[in-house]
Amino acid sequence: MKLRKHQDLLWLEEMEKRGGLTLEGQRELKHKQAGLLGEHEFGAIMRQYLPKNWQLLQDIRLKTPSGEIQIDAILVNNLGLTVFEVKNYTADYHYKEGRWQVNGRLKYHDDFLQLERTVGLLSQLLKQNGFKLPIQNYVVYINEEDTVEIDDETLPYLKRAKLRRFIKEAIENCQIAPHQSYERLSNWLVSQHQADDRRLTLKVEEFAKIKKGIYCVNCASFDIEFQRYHAKCCSCHYTESREKAIVRTICDYGILFPYEDLTAIEVGRLIGPTICYSAIYQTLAKYFKRLPHSRKYSNGQLPLNELFSEISFRYNDKHSPNQVPRKSEHSED
Ligand SMILES: [Zn+2]
Repeated sequence: MKLRKHQDLLWLEEMEKRGGLTLEGQRELKHKQAGLLGEHEFGAIMRQYLPKNWQLLQDIRLKTPSGEIQIDAILVNNLGLTVFEVKNYTADYHYKEGRWQVNGRLKYHDDFLQLERTVGLLSQLLKQNGFKLPIQNYVVYINEEDTVEIDDETLPYLKRAKLRRFIKEAIENCQIAPHQSYERLSNWLVSQHQADDRRLTLKVEEFAKIKKGIYCVNCASFDIEFQRYHAKCCSCHYTESREKAIVRTICDYGILFPYEDLTAIEVGRLIGPTICYSAIYQTLAKYFKRLPHSRKYSNGQLPLNELFSEISFRYNDKHSPNQVPRKSEHSED
């Protein structure tokens, strides 16, 4: 399964660009970005070494009778299941005599207890559905800086540098274990995955405070000059198709207000007066699905690159000749 940004991360990123996040929101954004990056890196390292017939399922969310569980990764091979909780910590974490400290202060959240609870609920769910198999589990500390120290070697954890060796040993163990396919189980797990349907949305008083307009897709500046077919950034001189910039911002409106249908008037309140009503209306009508018997359009709740990944616009994006293209922060694979 492809790792993707959840709506809460998309929402926080959009709010950040529009200057609408509190300090707490900024912290949450950083935390979620680091988390996703960690899961990406874990997946990339594992897939380098995994045998082809093993499966690595990432970001699985399951409903169990005793509560919902979210699992960062599950490895399926003929030994059974291995559940991974991936942590991308950059602060100094110490686990000493059963207690966690972060940057010298006591921390009450315990990674091992969290994983134990998840695995307990997962194994219950599997039993109820007729699956009986061994489950191993590990907390993975994926950050390259390696700032986590644990004084108890018996605890189930893996540092980034140990992942390769972990797979090598698992391959050896699999070769001597009975041949057993858990393909049916991994298909079942994928079929049980529940998309996260919680949505963050903007309150009226928050909307008043955020920056309105279309920002540069390259540098997030709101200083854009609109030409007939292009939107040109006055800060970095990046040029985007004008139509694409409007579609992109309509998508961003859909992320900020996930429960709202799209109308030209409401979208126009976010875009601001630089683009006229009729241009917004025409763009909505051209690219978005109209809801029956209304002037409203369907809200896909996704950013342009996901909602319109198949569509190419008439005018391509262009960097200024003097400008080195900025590397995107999170490359999607
Ligand atoms: Zn720019």
